[in-house]
Amino acid sequence: MSEAAEASVPVLAGQLAAVGQRCYARGWALGTSGNFSAVISRCPFRLAISASGREKRCLHADDILTVDAFGAPVGTHRAVPSAETLLHVTIAQVRRASAILHTHSVWGTILSDVHAHGRGLNVSGYEMLKGLRGVTSHQHSEWIPILENDQDMPRLAQRVSDLLQAHEGVHGLLLRRHGLYTWGDTLEEAERHVEILEFLFETLCRSVVCGTTAGAEV
Ligand SMILES: [Zn+2]
Repeated sequence: MSEAAEASVPVLAGQLAAVGQRCYARGWALGTSGNFSAVISRCPFRLAISASGREKRCLHADDILTVDAFGAPVGTHRAVPSAETLLHVTIAQVRRASAILHTHSVWGTILSDVHAHGRGLNVSGYEMLKGLRGVTSHQHSEWIPILENDQDMPRLAQRVSDLLQAHEGVHGLLLRRHGLYTWGDTLEEAERHVEILEFLFETLCRSVVCGTTAGAEV
């Protein structure tokens, strides 16, 4: 999405709802878990984001509302924005991402715990890595940082901001025993990153079960 051309809110809302339903269908956003956002405009900063507590199985365009640079609702929508709105705002601003997607998969949850002691995991040797923006070889080594989960969102948002500034090349991050955040220059790119990273998480975990050599030690 070009920053010069502001996005249509109804169109973005419909697209975000569709992404949410697809993530639910893949088992990456069961129940009310996960949240999805896209930048409407940069000046003033406006973000379309899924409302808190909505079941992703039936996420609808009406479940998407607008927030400002502080995560506060804008307009007359009666819903409450996702509790993790500040994390979306932070990623949109620090990384200049146009779309931010957050999933709660089984595999990502397991890996975020197993690798918490190392504050992240390296993934390399997989062809699917080439689905990440700018990656051209399976030999690429992708660092996926892990942050401790926290219910204090301003504090967690600051830690996310610090991490993104320290690791400029990352395509996503994991919150421990919680889930994945990834992003993109477009909503399509962000959804592709979810698909790639969730594929890699599942492959790493299943490789251990199958007793094969994995691209990261689990
Ligand atoms: Zn979450």
